[in-house]
Amino acid sequence: MTLKDYKKKRDFRKTPEPKRRGQGKNLFVIQKHDASNLHYDLRLAVNGVLKSWAVPKGPSTNPKDKRLAIMTEDHPLSYARFEGRIPEGEYGAGVVIVWDKGTYENLDDKSISKGLKKGHIKFKLKGEKLRGGYSLYQFKKEENQWLLVKMDDEEADARRNPVSTQPESVKTGKTIDDY
Ligand code: MN
Repeated sequence: MTLKDYKKKRDFRKTPEPKRRGQGKNLFVIQKHDASNLHYDLRLAVNGVLKSWAVPKGPSTNPKDKRLAIMTEDHPLSYARFEGRIPEGEYGAGVVIVWDKGTYENLDDKSISKGLKKGHIKFKLKGEKLRGGYSLYQFKKEENQWLLVKMDDEEADARRNPVSTQPESVKTGKTIDDY
């Protein structure tokens, strides 16, 4: 049976059961990836896959910072749990840790999928390290180059620098060096 059947049987104004595909639907994860070049993979669950960007400097909490984010291939939802070492010789060889994880909320009138096609999305993160609004703006369409910028809201903080002060995994507490 599909999720459609599940939904047809239930009145979600009355039952506390989950309406959405759950796990993953609005999930976000940022994986610190010590590959040939260290980077942070930002992934947002959209329509059953993880849309992904590699952010070389990692995300900032300062609205004045514009961080390059290179869009990479979609990943399966289950990838959000992955932490460990990709063996030498394999694509992306090196250690991956779950640097931050949580849920996100679309802050735009249009859907995230439409925003992705237009090259501009706005979303609010509810993670352990990152919170509040962020925007992703595609500035070079042919090269999949986007900019990740913190929105100027209550969670913006120019003094925080979680990339350097909170290097550990939110899943295991381990750092890259522990692997
Ligand atoms: Mn990567």
